[in-house]
Amino acid sequence: MAQGSDIVIVGAGSAGCVLAARLSEDPACRVTLIEAGGEADSDVVRQPSQWPLLWDREENWGYSTTAQRGYALRSILCQRGKGLGGSSAINAMIVIRGDAHDFDHWRDLGNPGWGWRDVLPYFIRSEDHVLGASAWHGAGGPLAVTAPTSPNPIAHAFVDAAVACGHRRNPDFNGEHRDGAGLYHLSVRDGVRCSAAAAYLRPAMARPNLEVLTKARALRVALDGDRAVGVDVFDGLQVRRIDATQEVLVCAGAIDSPKLLMLSGIGDPAALQAHGIGVKHALPAVGRHLCDHPGAALALALKAPIPAQPSSNLVEAGLFMKSARSSGGYATEIQFLVLPQAPGITAARGRSPAMAIVVQSCRPLSRGSVTLRSADPLDAPLIDPAYMTAPEDLALQIEGLREARRIAAAGPLARHLTGELAPGLTATADADLERHIRGTGGCINHPVGTCRMGPGEDAVVNAELRVHGLLGLRVVDASVMPQITSGNTDAPTIMIAEKAADLIRRAA
Ligand SMILES: Cc1cc2nc3c(=O)[nH]c(=O)nc-3n(C[C@H](O)[C@H](O)[C@H](O)COP(=O)(O)OP(=O)(O)OC[C@H]3O[C@@H](n4cnc5c(N)ncnc54)[C@H](O)[C@@H]3O)c2cc1C
Repeated sequence: MAQGSDIVIVGAGSAGCVLAARLSEDPACRVTLIEAGGEADSDVVRQPSQWPLLWDREENWGYSTTAQRGYALRSILCQRGKGLGGSSAINAMIVIRGDAHDFDHWRDLGNPGWGWRDVLPYFIRSEDHVLGASAWHGAGGPLAVTAPTSPNPIAHAFVDAAVACGHRRNPDFNGEHRDGAGLYHLSVRDGVRCSAAAAYLRPAMARPNLEVLTKARALRVALDGDRAVGVDVFDGLQVRRIDATQEVLVCAGAIDSPKLLMLSGIGDPAALQAHGIGVKHALPAVGRHLCDHPGAALALALKAPIPAQPSSNLVEAGLFMKSARSSGGYATEIQFLVLPQAPGITAARGRSPAMAIVVQSCRPLSRGSVTLRSADPLDAPLIDPAYMTAPEDLALQIEGLREARRIAAAGPLARHLTGELAPGLTATADADLERHIRGTGGCINHPVGTCRMGPGEDAVVNAELRVHGLLGLRVVDASVMPQITSGNTDAPTIMIAEKAADLIRRAA
């Protein structure tokens, strides 16, 4: 195991893979990447249709939340990838950048350099897009972005039904328009998942200046005064210090990055002392502002089963729409994800064949936290996303379920259906839909915000992603988002890491 490097990166997830590859492009820069999981390269990972099977395997941390008061005190699975690629090795492969306003809002919160026009070049740089190079897309970048090769008939039927209901037909959610119905673009290359490891890391792994340690768990960041000087790592047998002469980059994701900072003595002093952890640097915002997209499903009975192609990610079609309650300039307030199956939906169990339209409010207002369960680094943290505690989030979910029902009743989709399984057509009042959401709702696995970027006390990193008040330490992953993006979070995380690579190279 390495003893030292210029840059030590913790976590080989979406962001960590980008950084390891980009920073090691300079042969003079020695990079060590530390990953708690293994190779994450099994057939189940590689074959897109298998992703729903990845929730109880070694490639998943298998976390769950605390009892959620907005969800009738149920604990919700909080899936996080473990292994090369991190969550990009277990996700549903949908590529969505978010709304241009998301990034302008980040900038306006006091983060210069993060507006839409600033970040668009980094989205473009990351891509090898099926539509080729344009003002919106990149060609020749590491991340393959393709269209579903043979979309299932339900995907087409949903799009046609949504168009019949008045929504725009949108061939590219990452192009000129964000709203409307269409097929998702996917991080899939030649029918195989293109995780951040496949896109960025594996092509770089032969470089002599890049060392990748798997099954190596970071226990804490080592500080010398106010400077990060390395990382203590447990390889299953012993603990060793890996020195960083230039920087430590924490890329352990929105759950484990705040945990690692807290274990290192960086966080809310009272919370650290409660676990007997010495305070090295008071930073109360660590672990706060946890935000995730909630999801609730309309489950529908199909006339005939829809066979899944191995190369299909299953969630091939979707819709973004404004809310009737809309006040801002966003075109995307509710997102729909359409599956030709209804996995995990109780009312659909044993009622095969079934399909699901999952509804997600794009910018929920509910905020929770990640806190330590104990000072033991091997203990899972306490994860409380506080789903559905803001009344506005509930209102959007109800509005979305009603719209999903309206689309399901439109001819192109209705002709495939025999009825509604959940919540059931007798559930018409807001109170009925609320009961359904609180009793069966879950999440889309997009946690962000726990090391948020910003200028004030309410933030953990500044606009260069440096931890406030410390030297040689940055956080680069989904946890730095000051506000959740209006859609799936992988592409924005990759963009963050692409931009961070430039910031780090410029500072060297
Ligand atoms: C089931 C699921 C479906 C999803 N579907 C989509 C989708 O279709 N489209 C989309 O855009 N987004 C999707 N997402 C979300 C997206 O994948 C994530 O937002 C993104 O991957 C987050 O990247 P990250 O770098 O912040 O963290 P991660 O990719 O989670 O990486 C963190 C890495 O750090 C490692 N790590 C953690 N702690 C330690 C430690 N102490 N020591 C060493 N290593 C450590 C982890 O093992 C992991 O490899 C999905 C996520 C899940 C879980």
